[in-house]
Amino acid sequence: MEKKKKCPQCDIHAFFVKNEEGSRRLVYILTDGKVVAKYPEESLEGFDVAEVFCLGCSWHGSPQRLR
Ligand SMILES: [Zn+2]
Repeated sequence: MEKKKKCPQCDIHAFFVKNEEGSRRLVYILTDGKVVAKYPEESLEGFDVAEVFCLGCSWHGSPQRLR
């Protein structure tokens, strides 16, 4: 199983990203900081992967700040 980064606040590894229209995509973040769509058939094109939002709490920020 791939290693995933965790939220610094609540310790889960489920996040989402948004696009300009406010749509969401579920993602996880690999230990190298790469943002990956949870569902492979979903494209992240047009989505801002520089800011990720935690599904479990209010944390959001750069994927590099996850642990
Ligand atoms: Zn969290």
